[in-house]
Amino acid sequence: MASLAQPSSCAPVEKDGPPLPSPRGGPANGDANRCEYCHAPKSVFNFPFEVEHIIPQSRGGSDDLNNLALACHACNLFKSDFETGRNEESEAEVRLFHPRRDAWEEHFRIDTERAEMVGITPVGRATVARLHMNRPRHINARHRWIQLGLFP
Ligand SMILES: [Zn+2]
Repeated sequence: MASLAQPSSCAPVEKDGPPLPSPRGGPANGDANRCEYCHAPKSVFNFPFEVEHIIPQSRGGSDDLNNLALACHACNLFKSDFETGRNEESEAEVRLFHPRRDAWEEHFRIDTERAEMVGITPVGRATVARLHMNRPRHINARHRWIQLGLFP
């Protein structure tokens, strides 16, 4: 039977590199205990969240706090160095959600019955698609988080 990982009793080890976004500098749309893209609760992961460059370094993005977001491994992995995604309604390529400039609630909602992330704007839909936020594995995890009262 699958079970949720307990928070590690070890001190989290942050990777070298840019500092984590501070409470002063962000996250702008929530607390530091959630992925700033999919809102996955950090407490159920047994691995530290990752510092993600909103504008990728490969495209000139800086290490400035305004360009850093805290992301779960999946969101960081799928976002990669993309800045745009496909809005599935219009088929247009649009920019992705920007955790420092955009209000999360204006672009996403959560269907708690289906445990699905729903993009409610072109930016939200493109981000849900690009970051593969509704993969079966992620939906299964969300169902459990909802049952445990950890999400949304
Ligand atoms: Zn995430």
